[in-house]
Amino acid sequence: MSDNYNNRPVVAVVGRPNVGKSTLFNKLAGKRISIVEDTPGVTRDRIFTEVEWLDRYFTLIDTGGIEPDNGDIILSQMRNQAMLAMDMAHVILFVVDGKSGLTAADREVAQLLRKTKKPVILVVNKIDSQSQFDNVYDFYELGLGMPFGISSANSMGLGDLLDEVISYFPKGLNMDADEDLIRVAITGKPNAGKSSILNNILGEERVIVSPVAGTTRDAVDTYIERNDQKFLLIDTAGIRRKSKIYETVEKYSVIRAMTAVDRADIVLIVIDAEQGITEQDTKVAGIAHDEGKGCIFIVNKWDLIEKDNKTLGNYTKEIKEKFPFMMYAPVLFVSAKTNQRMNKILEMVVYIASEHAKRISTSALNDVIGEAVMLNQPPSDKGKRLKIYYGTQTDVKPPKITLFINDKELTHFSYQRYLENKIRENFGFEGTSVKFEYREKG
Ligand code: GDP
Ligand code: GDP
Repeated sequence: MSDNYNNRPVVAVVGRPNVGKSTLFNKLAGKRISIVEDTPGVTRDRIFTEVEWLDRYFTLIDTGGIEPDNGDIILSQMRNQAMLAMDMAHVILFVVDGKSGLTAADREVAQLLRKTKKPVILVVNKIDSQSQFDNVYDFYELGLGMPFGISSANSMGLGDLLDEVISYFPKGLNMDADEDLIRVAITGKPNAGKSSILNNILGEERVIVSPVAGTTRDAVDTYIERNDQKFLLIDTAGIRRKSKIYETVEKYSVIRAMTAVDRADIVLIVIDAEQGITEQDTKVAGIAHDEGKGCIFIVNKWDLIEKDNKTLGNYTKEIKEKFPFMMYAPVLFVSAKTNQRMNKILEMVVYIASEHAKRISTSALNDVIGEAVMLNQPPSDKGKRLKIYYGTQTDVKPPKITLFINDKELTHFSYQRYLENKIRENFGFEGTSVKFEYREKG
């Protein structure tokens, strides 16, 4: 049974700036790339995505997006990228530029990558036509096997590349769609109590597999089943202690958390009640929001707080103020030590997962939109008023509402916020962002 439930394969893209890593990433991500919303203090670039190839799924990481380009420190950044990739990925795509040819930086990185036991595929990008194919062989001297010529811009060679990538995955990884599994990432700063929460949950549950051995992954995954519902608990706690390379680098604990978030449906943001919200919590929550994950704030160590009848309300208010863009996320106050409300966590996860995946009928949605429009007219500009013809829910996880309108220029975020509130009053969508999309109709 354990093999079925193993981790997703991870593929990392490495290479110097401008070789076409993000172009390749976006091509492979296809339609699944998400439109990132404005959240202060959060990087806009998506550096993780799920890729589907012939009904098989894996996680792709663009290591180039992790650190911005910056002239003379390119080399050290590439070393970091390569190390991250060697540490996290099952397969590494080393991308070079077939137009500009071999560079010293390519040689340096190749030297590092030759040391790893992981499969490395040397990808020569920008081979836009057959006539440029000879350039590919120049890279053979990097000692990483036969180079693979592609053109990311023209989508040439990508299918063959994906076949190759998939052929290198170690046995036992999970490439299935996993429809009935709820993946839960447990994030939070060191010592917030993530391991204690995980152990507490596991204490009550039948453990199917724990932990999954044999992979040097960023997180330890545990599968449990409760009331016929399967959960994958992605724990980011052990990381700091395990990893030698990143021990000292605080930033990488955020990257780790981001990988866990990317793989999850529901993100638990564990906050130490005594310490309050940290910068890392803000970052991780922002990413979880942008990626449209189900989110739950867990305030742990509630036993340590001196309480009166206002404490809980005040604390909730403080969280809502720190995360104004996540008013939808529920807050649970727990103690892994005294067991207080610990049984609510999985209950809440199941509920938020159902909200996250909920579909509402077009007719019910339009009743609500119609009423909202009657109560409060859409905005107008220079005598022209926004007309909303109708709306329909076009996606789940997170829910997406597509509105058919007369003119995109007339849309306004405050009116969208108003509609979102009306939709939430009627349909809930608790714990998840709701995305909006506009389409003009003549
Ligand atoms: P990154 O810095 O490695 O992520 O590179 P980008 O994806 O941003 O690409 C750098 C430049 O190379 C951009 O101008 C791309 O349009 C261009 N580029 C990417 N892939 C190809 C390709 O297959 N052929 C050609 N001719 N240009 C490409
Ligand atoms: P992690 O680094 O986030 O995994 O945190 P741990 O689970 O290792 O917990 C860090 C410390 O906080 C340990 O000493 C725990 O015993 C303690 N701790 C965890 N949860 C609670 C709690 O609910 N109440 C109290 N008082 N201590 C806790």
